Amino acid sequence: MIIKYIIVAALALTIFSSCSEDNTSNTTTNPKVDQSKSIAEVATNAIQVGKDYHSFSNPESIKVTHLNLDLTVDFSKKMLIGTAHLDLQKVDQNATQLILDTRNLTINSVTAMGEKVDFGLANGDSFLGSALTIDVPAAADSVLISYQTSPKASGVQWLTPEQTAGKKHPFLFTQAQAIHARSFIPLQDSPQVRMTYEATIRTPKALLAVMSASNDPKSQRDGIYEFSMPQPIPSYLIALAVGDLHFKPMGERTGVYSEKGILDAAAAEFADTESMLIATEKAFGPYSWDRYDLLILPPSFPFGGMENPRLSFITPTVIAGDKSLVSLIAHELAHSWSGNTVTNATWRDLWLNEGFTTYLTYRIMQMVYGDERFEMESVLGRQDLQADIDSLPDKDQIMAIDLRGRDPDDVFSNIPYEKGALFLRELELKVGRENFDQFLLNYFEKFAFKSITTDQFISYLEQTLLKDHSDTLSMQRIEEWIFQPGIPEDAYVPESDAFIIVDQARDAWLEGTVQADEINSEKWVVHQWLYFLNNMPEKLSQEQLTDLDKVFALTKSKNNEIAHSWLLISVNNWYQPAFNRLHDYLTTIGRNKLVKPLYKALSQTPEGKIMAQKAFAEAKSGYHPLTVKANEVFVQ
Ligand SMILES: [Zn+2]
Repeated sequence: MIIKYIIVAALALTIFSSCSEDNTSNTTTNPKVDQSKSIAEVATNAIQVGKDYHSFSNPESIKVTHLNLDLTVDFSKKMLIGTAHLDLQKVDQNATQLILDTRNLTINSVTAMGEKVDFGLANGDSFLGSALTIDVPAAADSVLISYQTSPKASGVQWLTPEQTAGKKHPFLFTQAQAIHARSFIPLQDSPQVRMTYEATIRTPKALLAVMSASNDPKSQRDGIYEFSMPQPIPSYLIALAVGDLHFKPMGERTGVYSEKGILDAAAAEFADTESMLIATEKAFGPYSWDRYDLLILPPSFPFGGMENPRLSFITPTVIAGDKSLVSLIAHELAHSWSGNTVTNATWRDLWLNEGFTTYLTYRIMQMVYGDERFEMESVLGRQDLQADIDSLPDKDQIMAIDLRGRDPDDVFSNIPYEKGALFLRELELKVGRENFDQFLLNYFEKFAFKSITTDQFISYLEQTLLKDHSDTLSMQRIEEWIFQPGIPEDAYVPESDAFIIVDQARDAWLEGTVQADEINSEKWVVHQWLYFLNNMPEKLSQEQLTDLDKVFALTKSKNNEIAHSWLLISVNNWYQPAFNRLHDYLTTIGRNKLVKPLYKALSQTPEGKIMAQKAFAEAKSGYHPLTVKANEVFVQ
């Protein structure tokens, strides 16, 4: 989720983007590192390793192993109504109570072996929700819960026909990461509880339902859809979407679902998905999940992508027409190895999921698109990381973050993503790529379909890579990466030759020795444009902005990332000719990574705040609850 952020004020909730998101900016610094001997110990500060502080559930006593859902999708009431049948495994044979997570669910009844059983729903905690405690008879090995969701379920977005591309049918999608599954299914909503699932989803007949499970591209549109996920997954990977969806194959194992209007463009944009899959398998071992399809969501999807197994959910904002933003697909695909197969045991361990995935993303891009792309994306990622290092408090720059008492959505900054990836890059450089790849292959195999903690990873590292390469690796350095803020001194700094000419052009233009129309940018790719814009000084004159816009038509850019960078510059320098586009941008896109920095920048001045309020009021009904929550602080 991805998903990454800037904390605003002490209690700011910053929903990054779930899976693949980031902020952009520049600069460098190296924080002082505490040379304490037991870095891990100090940082851990009485955290109970492996304890999930974000779930009320009790898998240590009774564990849910399989879920069978039967849900009716009621668009008029904005509710999912039906039953969840949970298979149980008694870890403690004397256990008599099953504790589940819920948020804003109405529980109608609970039965076991055909008989009603007692249950209690606790008062709601603001972000953890309500514990549902069920008395389980000694002989029962399952329970059946009859329930319905609230129209305000935090993990479900209901779109009216007007909010879709086709304008004719409503649309629904879920987003469970980090702890939103509990808002649409009563379950043990912890990444360390893995379960298989089956589902029957009942929809209006004109619509198609898809899930993070076995989807049949040829399934008949009859309003009743059956799904099965035979591999055990954590709850945050359960996902459902319903809409006027159509399918187009891209390769033997890959295809795309979307509304009809963007189906061809999406299939063309993401045509390299099959090549990515083949390359990743070759380097990091077999793909475990059968098919790999993409679901392109309406523009209100709050994240870049979400790695729902077998069916990644993808923002349409990366359909640029030139495959320039497809690293997002590489990222979601990479999660099939890191995250979905080897999962973080708690949200504190998210860096094991996102750091590995971000590292693999760069590697996939290199395998499929070559060194130059790899280098450019590495530099841009490093700059995103620096922006967060510069703006986040020290405690939020720690990879194994202490999230006790906090909303786990707070963990989605660039720290678990880019800092995690940079750490792994350092390991790779110190032991050699071949050795590191072998380590990764073994790691993915050893921990397949398990949820592991940072400490388990460290002890595995100690027994393997560290043991074999004690000449180049040290535990002190590794712990510094994982448990200290900032970036360790002398960390690897990615470079790209393709950016040298961009720096030269920007410098010459800023000095006034060349005009914008004299910049030789004909062959620049999107990454070079992003680098050109993201490294501009904070203040530019109106003449300079007019010059750039006139020559490069930046206000009209169809690339959503370039437009984002330009609009941010425009807000920071009050460049009014871009403001109509800014309003359109904010009211048609709900991807938090793209809109949040703009709202934040606007909120810095009274005039800007008025513009932000106007756009937010207009856009709010179409934004996902997470995007609303992340941005309302800027318009109050
Ligand atoms: Zn991710």
